Amino acid sequence: MSYKPLDSKVNIPELEHEVQKFWDETNAYWKRVEIQENENRPHWSFIDGPITANNPMGVHHAWGRTYKDLFARYRFMKGYEVRNQNGFDCQGLWVEVEVEKELGFKSKLDIEDYGLAEFVKMCKQRVLKYSAIQTQQSIRLGMWTDWNNPDELRKLSEALEKPLEETTYIGSKGPVTGTAEYLVGQLGMTQMGGSYYTFSDENNYMIWKVLKSCHERGWIYIGADAMPWCPRCSTGISQHEIVTEGYQEVTHTSVYVLFRLKDREGSLLIWTTTPWTLTSNVAAAVHPELTYVKVKYRNEVMYLSKGALKSAIPDQKHVEILGELKGAEMDGWKYTGPYDELPRVKELRVPEVHRVIMWEDVGEEEGTGIVHIAPGAGKEDLGLGRKYGLPAPAPLDDFGVIIDGFGWLTGLHVYDSAEPIFEDLRKKEILYRTQKVTHRYPTCWRCGSELVFRHVAEWFINMGEKLDKDLEDITEEEKDQNLRYQIMDSASNVNWIPSFGLKRELDWLKNMDDWMISKKRYYGLALPIWKCECSWFDVIGSKEELKERAVEGWEKFEGHSPHRPYIDAVKIKCPKCGKTVSRIPDVGNPWLDAGIVGYSTIQYRQNREYWEKWFPANFITESFPGQFRNWFYAMLAESTILERRTPYWTCLGHGQVLAEDGREMHKSWGNAIWFDDAAETMGADIIRWIDSLAKPENNLLFGYGRANEVRRLFFMTLLNVYNFFYQYATLDNWTPDQQPLKLDPLDRWILGKLDVTIEKVTENLDNYLTSPTCTEIDRFVDILSKWYVRRSRRRFWKTEADDEKKAAYSTLYKCLKTVIYMMAPITPYLSEALYQRMIRPVEAGAPESVHHCSWPELDPSIRDLELMEEMDMALNLSSAGRAARSQANIKLRQPLAEVVVVAPSDKTARIGNI
Ligand SMILES: [Zn+2]
Ligand SMILES: [Zn+2]
Repeated sequence: MSYKPLDSKVNIPELEHEVQKFWDETNAYWKRVEIQENENRPHWSFIDGPITANNPMGVHHAWGRTYKDLFARYRFMKGYEVRNQNGFDCQGLWVEVEVEKELGFKSKLDIEDYGLAEFVKMCKQRVLKYSAIQTQQSIRLGMWTDWNNPDELRKLSEALEKPLEETTYIGSKGPVTGTAEYLVGQLGMTQMGGSYYTFSDENNYMIWKVLKSCHERGWIYIGADAMPWCPRCSTGISQHEIVTEGYQEVTHTSVYVLFRLKDREGSLLIWTTTPWTLTSNVAAAVHPELTYVKVKYRNEVMYLSKGALKSAIPDQKHVEILGELKGAEMDGWKYTGPYDELPRVKELRVPEVHRVIMWEDVGEEEGTGIVHIAPGAGKEDLGLGRKYGLPAPAPLDDFGVIIDGFGWLTGLHVYDSAEPIFEDLRKKEILYRTQKVTHRYPTCWRCGSELVFRHVAEWFINMGEKLDKDLEDITEEEKDQNLRYQIMDSASNVNWIPSFGLKRELDWLKNMDDWMISKKRYYGLALPIWKCECSWFDVIGSKEELKERAVEGWEKFEGHSPHRPYIDAVKIKCPKCGKTVSRIPDVGNPWLDAGIVGYSTIQYRQNREYWEKWFPANFITESFPGQFRNWFYAMLAESTILERRTPYWTCLGHGQVLAEDGREMHKSWGNAIWFDDAAETMGADIIRWIDSLAKPENNLLFGYGRANEVRRLFFMTLLNVYNFFYQYATLDNWTPDQQPLKLDPLDRWILGKLDVTIEKVTENLDNYLTSPTCTEIDRFVDILSKWYVRRSRRRFWKTEADDEKKAAYSTLYKCLKTVIYMMAPITPYLSEALYQRMIRPVEAGAPESVHHCSWPELDPSIRDLELMEEMDMALNLSSAGRAARSQANIKLRQPLAEVVVVAPSDKTARIGNI
């Protein structure tokens, strides 16, 4: 048995493949599982925020995934039984959009023509395909968990071509046989093993249970609301989705329009960026306290706010001010609307209603200080309309096409409507002018289309009233009735990293509107709501309950996953009017899917004991932009609904990965790096080190420059130290059983430093802080190389194998070994490679893999505080000296006549010793 070299210029990706082969051949992961199962260990659980299995994973995913793997490895080494199942997010609009693209579909009508069963099947197949790719990539990143065999996933995807034929899947616990559709629905469950999939039967039925539980408390309702709507995807977009990633800079042509006043001279001047909403204008709102002016401009007399005058009418030379008045004085003025001739507008008696109303939210920063109000085409507008009892003509259908009853406009698409409307307003002589405006405008997070506001009926979970007081002042009775404050309690129990997480989560909860849970789409959670024409509805809580209540269609559904179209065949009976009732066609918001995994993946419905063992998760982590409103929120909400319990104890949020130029990575900007390229060029361990070293509260700049720096400054330094050890220890035949009788002060110093490093690293990792962990390890390797090895060379070089030499070897060996262990969770490949070259050959009985080893123990008795302090002082003096030389431009080797050290009096005596 002897040490093996590891060249500091080693090709890191090649080395990693060699290590991966070793892990595969020795079944290393499963041996780790065996170790933890055979011992009586405390538990540590992690719940994975599912990655969307829709595309190959990006280099930005590696950041969170490094944390996910790192802390699981660390906890195992610390003696815990670890559960860290990976998860895939599988349902929702984003899969549909990609499959639509594959099939060349233009709108959702194409899906219905194609056939729902076939379409849903293709969505599932796409998920299986990309989850196989992401599985391979995750393995490449060095992640250890119970992975599905990617080839088995691909086979299952093919088998799904014939969903009801029997097939066999080889899972981590052996073969499982059933119909292809059944097996797909069982992925991640105990008998199948592997990652969890949010399209699984269990995940879907578990959400049914949540929704039933809401319904039993009267929290489920259907609401008509003005809703941001994507005309292309033909679905409402929830508030969560817009706030998260919904806004883009867009240029529109805005328009200034005259509303002719009826009982007096002149017009109201209004301004809008959405001309199509003029078709449904009902009122004009002014601020009661603002000052308005009556002006004559060329031949027109108009009213607008004083503050908006200059921007609204740039040609000030021709403006003549005729008078001033407060907004309140305009209350109730009647005017003629721009589209009073349209049949639908007439039908709703809008022309008789047009008037000026008061609204405190009117401003004059943009526009004219007079806001055109269309309750059928805007959210605030609808609120005002309700307050003043105004009608609400709503011009758009599901696809953004103007509906019947709008005269020449009927059939026009909202996106194509601006120019014809300008032309029409010009003809009517009420268009004052148009102006290009660039503003942040809500767009669809999936397809990028500009959103419009529509009146739609959607399903909501009632969050409870927003009470006008602080969380501390809400009484228990108020909380019992109010989901919002119950979730805030759950959120308050979480250890948020960074700590601003709590405030962000609470802000969201305090201000969020009711949770919209429906989508008018095809592939996703089948909302378990059966609604009768007579307006009675019920929420079904399980497959068993549905079977019991089914009066029709059960045989068509049986054997299928709870997805459209088969689930829609099942009917129940209305207890009120006796009619046969169908399920509402809507599917669920995908955050419901991801938010339930703290229950569905740990057998909440089957095995409460098992669930209690692993719930709540000790740790979750995701990139935080968005998640306070999405996954972090959905987990808290669903757990609070079911158990009124906090679903995770520590939530680590991290920023975004940007390119080295500080911009977002974009294919078209040439600064994007693909995960596979990064892994095969720089190596997975380098990616993991960069990600671990980063501060989670900031964004991370990622690129090849950074990777080279890490390799040069850290990895090569470590490998150089190892190779120094390797050469001399091999030459001298030194092995760890040759222990010294006595250590040198230099040995005791570095071992003391090592012990302090272990303590700090342990404390940091216990607190989920990786950045200071890496800094500590880096600093230790640096002094080991620059101070210990350099100052000890004489001892390694001398010919006689005396105690002094043994002391140097055993000290360096212990330092390197401990560093290898401490790095194992962060850089699993390099640690393994070094472990197999340095430790395993010479230590009988060493575990087969470094990842089966225990975390290094502290030995404070080694710390000689006085010695350490003096050495640290020497180190500081030396670097201060070096800095002074460089400042004075004096070479390092040039002897100095005199060195003057200025230090506090208590230190000067000791400096003399040094
Ligand atoms: Zn869209
Ligand atoms: Zn009924």
